[in-house]
Amino acid sequence: MIVAIDGPAGAGKSTAARRLAERLSFRYLDTGAMYRTVTLLALERGLDLGDAAPLEALAVAAPISLAGERVLVDGRDVTEAIRAVEIDRAVSGVAAHDGVRRAMRARQRELAGAGDAVVEGRDIGTVVCPGAEVKVYLVAEAGERARRRRAERPEAGDDEVTGRDERDAAQLAPATDAEVIDTTWLTIDEVVERIARLVAVRAEA
Ligand code: C5P
Repeated sequence: MIVAIDGPAGAGKSTAARRLAERLSFRYLDTGAMYRTVTLLALERGLDLGDAAPLEALAVAAPISLAGERVLVDGRDVTEAIRAVEIDRAVSGVAAHDGVRRAMRARQRELAGAGDAVVEGRDIGTVVCPGAEVKVYLVAEAGERARRRRAERPEAGDDEVTGRDERDAAQLAPATDAEVIDTTWLTIDEVVERIARLVAVRAEA
């Protein structure tokens, strides 16, 4: 079974997706980490982030592997490096290139297809796994999302979440058959519980 968890930055996707995967003993697939890794490599190699062709080539060839919650490139652990503020700022521009998205989506489908998984991103329920058995779209009020982001990453600016919303606008829409959950007033446990209930209902169907 595939559980797709989409939504904007700071809506609580990562924490909920990780905990749900652990609870269900499903694999956890963080597609944002893949875009972040391509961005890190592009910056390290001094690529022009406006130039689509070299970025697409990088997205096709980069030896990215997801090992549980660790992200590796050719054996090098980049889990922390891809959370830097410079990556937050640059990633949406890299992810906006169609060629980069094509390459990432192909890899994500392959990874997602290998058994039960909780897949987190922006376009999972709509494009990457439109056949996902459970689709959830998490939202939260902008002020609360900014507050969560600051708590997680004090060095991020106040406009980090709203800036990213604008840059990610093209990817931000729930699938028509997604369950939209507003997490503003919910605890993480409550969010996980709600999604777990959807999974249970679907598993019985
Ligand atoms: O989820 P996270 O905040 O780590 O994602 C980083 C960025 O990667 C997003 O802001 C977005 O630009 C891009 N992304 C995407 N499609 C996905 C996942 C992430 O475009 N499925």
